[in-house]
Amino acid sequence: MRSEIVIVGGGAGGLELACKLGRKLGPGKVMLVDSRLYHVWKPSLHEVAAGTLDIHQEGLSYQMLAHDRGFTFVYGEMTAMDAGAKRLTVAAVSAGDGEEVLPERSIEYGALVISVGSTSNYFGVPGARENTISLNATEDAERFRLRLLRLLAQAERDKEGANGGRSGMDIVIIGGGATGVELAAELREASSVYAAYGFNRLQVQRDVRITLLEGAPRILAPLPEKVSGAALRLLDQRAIRVVTDCRVTAIEKQQVLDKDGNVYPADMCVWAAGIRAPEFLSALGLPTNKGGQIEVDGHLQVKGVPGVYAIGDCAACIDGKGKPVPPRAQAAHQQADFLLKTFMNVASGYPAQKNPYVYRDYGSLVSIGHQTTVGSLMGSLKGLSWFVEGFMARIMYLSLHLMHHQAVLGSVRTGVMAVARFLIRRTTPLVKLH
Ligand SMILES: Cc1cc2nc3c(=O)[nH]c(=O)nc-3n(C[C@H](O)[C@H](O)[C@H](O)COP(=O)(O)OP(=O)(O)OC[C@H]3O[C@@H](n4cnc5c(N)ncnc54)[C@H](O)[C@@H]3O)c2cc1C
Repeated sequence: MRSEIVIVGGGAGGLELACKLGRKLGPGKVMLVDSRLYHVWKPSLHEVAAGTLDIHQEGLSYQMLAHDRGFTFVYGEMTAMDAGAKRLTVAAVSAGDGEEVLPERSIEYGALVISVGSTSNYFGVPGARENTISLNATEDAERFRLRLLRLLAQAERDKEGANGGRSGMDIVIIGGGATGVELAAELREASSVYAAYGFNRLQVQRDVRITLLEGAPRILAPLPEKVSGAALRLLDQRAIRVVTDCRVTAIEKQQVLDKDGNVYPADMCVWAAGIRAPEFLSALGLPTNKGGQIEVDGHLQVKGVPGVYAIGDCAACIDGKGKPVPPRAQAAHQQADFLLKTFMNVASGYPAQKNPYVYRDYGSLVSIGHQTTVGSLMGSLKGLSWFVEGFMARIMYLSLHLMHHQAVLGSVRTGVMAVARFLIRRTTPLVKLH
């Protein structure tokens, strides 16, 4: 197999790039490789985990997008590459019963974009890998959802007195960044409708105990203090216990321990305390940093490897203003647009872009359940930021996801229909726990 441009990883950055390039360059020029068949917008995974978003409604089929947007889709996991020969390897795909669906494949490329996202960084905490769930992929979120259902059913049975009267369940979330805060709030939101699934005996605020542990002196530490304060207040109103300055030292099957000797009971534990690049990247022979991210220059090209680019969470990029680019969906989106321009220039016979990529921070919004959002928006002048909270902030939060749908689906008509379906889904109190 061969393609002019091969993009590996169809997430926030890679899928947008594949769709836009496929549409502009036409069939046969662009290939997307992904280890999954469906795309789910990663910032929605806490909703999938809590059961408030139906993964089957949310997922976009890569194969259908390839057909509509004019790129080729290759299903499988990239495992190796030979930068000299401009070739990469995609592993064989097996069905659940072990039968091989697709063999191992070799793909030759003219230009390669690596956009494979990130995975958890456990910082060597004993038991973290074995005893926690992370929200890196749809399978993780689904695993969380099913385990939550099992624990809720168990807690309901315990309430009936069938199991010796033990009461309720404990969920511990490690990491008070955006993912941890959003998940905690979403879980509380989901718990208000458990009764609809027959869990009538549970008194959710008392029986589903949620604890958020953060190592820094405040949650959402990279955001302005006012945002942290507002988020803390909203979590408190939702009966979510927040412990700051808490250094987790070990995680066991049913409990979490911290450096001060405190013990937190945990029927379920979530790791949301840090990310790193997928491990296979460090074996590709490309320059990587301590967190395994591929080092790129200001034009997003891998340092010293012409024709190979990296974007999104897996790229270590110092932008044109000398600032490190954070691992965020808005960065992946901007970098996809930057490379789109680079490739279109080259395709039209012009030089690639003169100016390097500069990250534009439009602010950070953190969803606290389905009704409200807090955060700060950056002004374009003098780098000032504005505190925002409430329903309007919620609408702005959703707009990032809507822009992604628009970028992927392309035409205004399809985009509008997708947005309408999206809004209906988001305003319907859907809870999926079966
Ligand atoms: C719960 C949660 C909430 C978040 N909220 C926000 C938010 O509000 N705002 C924000 O800006 N950011 C948010 N983020 C971060 C944001 O999701 C990421 O920064 C963004 O998705 C990164 O985009 P990406 O394209 O680099 O990778 P991803 O979107 O993670 O996509 C990576 C893709 O690569 C594929 N892949 C991985 N390995 C391979 C391989 N070996 N071969 C082939 N394919 C592979 C995966 O299947 C996936 O499709 C959130 C993240 C989480 C988990």
